[in-house]
Amino acid sequence: MIPSDTPKMQMPSLLSKLGKMTSIRDTAMLEQSLLKTLCPMLGVLDSSLYRIDDLTSAMRVLHHHHSRVVESDGMARLVERNEEVFNDANIEPEVRALLDNVRLLGKPCTRKRTQAQDLLVAYPLFGGREICGYFVFTRDREVTLTEDAIIKGVLEVYANYYDLLDVSQRDRLTGLLNRQALENSFDRIWSILSRSEQPSGAPDGRRVHAPSSHWIAVVDVDHFKKVNDTYGHVVGDEVLLLISRLMMSALRASDLLFRYGGEEFVLLFSAKDSQDAMAILERLRLTVEQHVFPQVGRTTISIGLSHADPNDLPQEVLAWADRALYQAKETGRNRVCDYQALVSQGEVDAPSYGGSELF
Ligand code: GH3
Ligand code: MG
Ligand code: MG
Repeated sequence: MIPSDTPKMQMPSLLSKLGKMTSIRDTAMLEQSLLKTLCPMLGVLDSSLYRIDDLTSAMRVLHHHHSRVVESDGMARLVERNEEVFNDANIEPEVRALLDNVRLLGKPCTRKRTQAQDLLVAYPLFGGREICGYFVFTRDREVTLTEDAIIKGVLEVYANYYDLLDVSQRDRLTGLLNRQALENSFDRIWSILSRSEQPSGAPDGRRVHAPSSHWIAVVDVDHFKKVNDTYGHVVGDEVLLLISRLMMSALRASDLLFRYGGEEFVLLFSAKDSQDAMAILERLRLTVEQHVFPQVGRTTISIGLSHADPNDLPQEVLAWADRALYQAKETGRNRVCDYQALVSQGEVDAPSYGGSELF
């Protein structure tokens, strides 16, 4: 039985917090703001947001901690800390069991912690009609009816607003992530790369998986202006849509494909080594080459590749892949060029760090 209560939270204060939340233009900031809004309202110091990440499909967990710190003047102050974790293997069994219940029932659930008197509370986050994540906190007492209504209201505003931001990160023609999405998440993707490039091994030091590395490719449709000039923009758009679908069908779910500009795409993917990366891109190139497009017939793509070493700046790596693309265009189009191979063959100059011309 949920006890009733009088609202502790003043409505104007809640509204101003929601106002702040919806003035944010970035999904990661929005999540931090959500936890920052709900924590003091519920009188808890810690809360977490579990979310299936749009980019990596892994469970992403954002922990928000408040701690009371007594400073030299004797005053207690609240200090905030946010921590983002990408590894869902570390989710506590108790939390995992609770999330499973929420997923199965489609509604908030509570359970007593085994080691403490506290209650663990989880609310579902809905993206459309599906559950796309969970809001979780620990507290010494049950959620009241008023609190329950407020949490649900705030989560709904958050979910609607998240979807709006998400739409602005997608290209309208192809549905792919757009340039804005790449630029917004470049740093985040880079930090995931640097973590996943560390060699994984068994406790006894054996390698359990073949190490894989990450790569960036820039893809550009060949002579696309001619398609528009000959058949018109509507047919041109259809070709772009078909090319993006063909590429998606040739790639793995974990590969990230962005529509970077008009007829340019950026691909982030993993491969064992440069030979493997080239083979993946050759397959992509062939998939497009072999397709017969309505009216237009054959169309081809050129691709520039660069190794994405997390120690290099992402914009620099992108510029190198673009340099390789330029070489592919110069040497006949409908081909794949690898920047690092071009450098070692002396076909292009070695990079001068910090001085590359960016997009
Ligand atoms: P190259 O092989 O050197 O890449 O030649 P290109 O003709 O593909 O390159 P260029 O950069 O000269 O032309 C790109 C063309 O892409 C020009 C522009 O009209 C067309 N384009 C860009 N965005 C869109 C779009 O959204 N729809 C359509 N239909 N055309 C687009
Ligand atoms: Mg172009
Ligand atoms: Mg082109």
